Amino acid sequence: MAVTPKDAAAIILLRDRPDPTVFWVKRSPKLQFMGGFHAFPGGQLDKEDSSITVAGCDGEEAVMRACAVREFFEEAGVLLARGTERLSLERIAEKRRAMNDNVKSFKQTLEEDALEIACADFEPAGRWVTPHFAPRRFDTWFFLAWMPEGQEALIETGELETGEWIRPADALASWKRGEIILAPPTLHIIRMLAAHVDRVEELPAALTSIPESKRGMVRRIEFRPGIFLFPVRTPTLPPATHTNCYIIGGDELIVIDPASPYEEEQQELDSFIDSLMSEGRRVREIILTHHHPDHIGGAAHLRSRLGVPVAAHRLTADRIKYSVEVDRFVEDNELIELDGDPGWRLRVLQTPGHTRGHLCFYEEITGAIITGDLVVGVGTVVIDPPEGNMRHYFESLSRLLSLPKLSVLFPAHGPAIGSAREKIEEYVEHRTMRENKILAAVQAGASLPHEIVEAAYTDVHPSMWGLAERSTVAHLEKLEEDRRVLRYNGLYQIV
Ligand SMILES: [Zn+2]
Repeated sequence: MAVTPKDAAAIILLRDRPDPTVFWVKRSPKLQFMGGFHAFPGGQLDKEDSSITVAGCDGEEAVMRACAVREFFEEAGVLLARGTERLSLERIAEKRRAMNDNVKSFKQTLEEDALEIACADFEPAGRWVTPHFAPRRFDTWFFLAWMPEGQEALIETGELETGEWIRPADALASWKRGEIILAPPTLHIIRMLAAHVDRVEELPAALTSIPESKRGMVRRIEFRPGIFLFPVRTPTLPPATHTNCYIIGGDELIVIDPASPYEEEQQELDSFIDSLMSEGRRVREIILTHHHPDHIGGAAHLRSRLGVPVAAHRLTADRIKYSVEVDRFVEDNELIELDGDPGWRLRVLQTPGHTRGHLCFYEEITGAIITGDLVVGVGTVVIDPPEGNMRHYFESLSRLLSLPKLSVLFPAHGPAIGSAREKIEEYVEHRTMRENKILAAVQAGASLPHEIVEAAYTDVHPSMWGLAERSTVAHLEKLEEDRRVLRYNGLYQIV
C-alpha cells in the first residue's frame, strides 16, 4: 500500500555574496510531516499554479516554479517576481496577507502590479522523492534563487516555528552537534552549499550530482549524525509497510532490528552496510528491540553474513530461540558506548507493554530515543494480552517522559518525530481517553469485550475492531487491577 508522492517545490534562497547565507525554517513540531525538522520553505502544488505565466519556460518547468514562488511568498514573505522593486515593503506585506487570507489569488497578486516570474531567476537544484516508508510522500523540485534587493524574509508562525539566514557551514556544524534534524535533501543541499561558498557558479551541478537528487531511491537517511535509518519492507501491520532498521555509530556500529525476512530487502540492507564498512567502519553487534517477526526477520541472515553476535533481552531471546540465536543478553540500564564524532551513549531501557522484553535505546548526549514499537510514526501500537500489558505500557511511556533530555524519537515504523515530549504526552492522553471511553461503555451496560469495542471505538473504522478488541481486553485487565471494573462469568461491570 505504497503512497503516491505528490508534486511539491521548494526554494533555496541565498543572499550576501561573496560569503552567502541561506534562508531556512524550522517546521513546527506539531506537523505530521517532518515536524521539528529544519528545511527550505516550500510546499505542495496547487491547481492554480498551472494558470501562472512564467517568462522563458512552459510546461512542468513553469508550473513548478510558480508553485515554488507562491509557497515561498506565503511562508517567508519574499515575492520572487520581477517588478517587485517598484513596490514598498508595506505593499508586499499587504499582498501576502490578502493571499494568505484567500482574498486574492496568486494570479491576481502578480497581475495587479504587473509582476512576472522569470524562469531564468531559478536554477534547478534537484528533485527528491520521499522514501516509501513515510505516510506522506512528496516529489519535490528544488530551485536555487538569490534574494532580491529591498525585500525582507519573515515567516508566518503556525506551520513554521522559526526562520533565519544562516551560513551553510554553521548549519552543518549545528547538525553535526546533534542539535537539529535534517531530511536527506536538506542535508545534501547544506553540505553542497558549505563546500561551494566560494564557487557558487558550480552549485547547480553539485546539487544535482547524486542519483537521489534526480528522483533516485533515497537510501542514506541520516537525520542525526551517525544515526542511520534504513527502512526495509516487512510483513507488518497496515498502514505501515516497512520497519526501520537503525545503524548507529562511527567507526564501530550497532545494527538495531535487521527486520526483513525478504531476500531482496536483506540484500539492500547488506549493500548499505557494505557501503558504510567501505568507509572504514565495522559492525560490533546486532541488537533486537523485541521478538515480533517484523523486527527480527533478517537477524539470522545478517548474523551469519557478518559473523557478529546478536544481543536481546532474555525474554525476547526466549521467544525466538528456534529462529534466531541470541549470543548475549541485554539488561535494563546497560550503557552501550560508541566512539567517534560526536560519540554515542545509548542507555538501554527495558520498556514492557507492547511485549515483555521490549527495549528502547536512549541516546544520552542528544536526547534522541530509538523507540522500537513503544511509540511509532505511522499507525498505532497494539497491546495484545497476555504478552501486551496496558499498565506496563503506561509505565514505559512515563519512564520516557521522566528522562532528563528529550529531543527526537526514532520509531520502528514511519519517519523520525521531532517533538519527542509532545508525541509521548499525546500517546498517554490518547490511551487515557480510550480507557475513559471503555469505562463509560461498561457503565452504560456493555459487558462483553466486543460490545465494549463497539461503544468505545466509534471513531475507528470497524475493520480495525478486531485489533481494538485486544487492546480493549488490555485496558479491562488494567481497570480490573485498579478495581474500577470487575469480571463475573466473563461479563464486565462497574465496581
Ligand atoms: Zn512489535
